[in-house]
Amino acid sequence: MFFRKKRYFVCSVCGYDYLPGPLYINGTPDVSLICACCGFQPGYDDEELGYTLESYREEWIQKGAKWFREKEKPKQWNLKKQLKNINIR
Ligand SMILES: [Zn+2]
Repeated sequence: MFFRKKRYFVCSVCGYDYLPGPLYINGTPDVSLICACCGFQPGYDDEELGYTLESYREEWIQKGAKWFREKEKPKQWNLKKQLKNINIR
């Protein structure tokens, strides 16, 4: 019997660090992925809607940094702490 440690990835928009996969694989967006926190969907929000990671982040924060999947939000969630994952203060 063995246990496999699950790997998680960090969202480059909001710093959420439990993404099941990377937003981009070798520059190709994984369109099946939506960040549970900021709701960013690679290949759609950027290529279809024209956001950059920065502009999406700014707008998301301006709108109150709401969770895309509210029930996955940790009780002690802290936006500033999370943004440190991607070196943003
Ligand atoms: Zn995110």
